[in-house]
Amino acid sequence: MNHPELHRLRIGHGFDVHRFAAEFDPAKPLILAGVELPIRRSLLAHSDGDLLLHALADAVLGAAGAGDIGQLFPDTDPGNAGISSKLILKAALDKAAGQGLAPINIDLTVIAQVPKLSPHAAALRGSLARLTGLPLERVNLKATTTERMGYLGREEGMACHAVVLFGPDA
Ligand code: MG
Repeated sequence: MNHPELHRLRIGHGFDVHRFAAEFDPAKPLILAGVELPIRRSLLAHSDGDLLLHALADAVLGAAGAGDIGQLFPDTDPGNAGISSKLILKAALDKAAGQGLAPINIDLTVIAQVPKLSPHAAALRGSLARLTGLPLERVNLKATTTERMGYLGREEGMACHAVVLFGPDA
């Protein structure tokens, strides 16, 4: 990559947390990275609660210098109730594309004591690749616990960090 192109690289970071509902609500299935999982846990959220896509969308907006998803999709707007987070990510990617930016790679870290995501990691990674249009090898998904410390360790919810790198759209 030559010198002028280096100046067109953009990095973004996003973070999100959602609290588990006290009881599983079949009307609020656990959706992560756009995938509905066969796990009897619900997250409290104005949207579908997909914290992976929320963290990723915020990372995308960060790279584009375009604020955050709260500005794009206010949770005070009843029109956003139950909204699919795929639409939120798409809107963020469209903002970046409008600036001539194309994603180069993404890296997500889920922090949760429960549920265990390893059986679903391949499905989530594949979905992230489809939603971003990236080849699988440029999509990374990690999961860790907090060794039972803090609110995540007490199984009160789940958190996710996301980092994205953008370069000039060819
Ligand atoms: Mg969120």
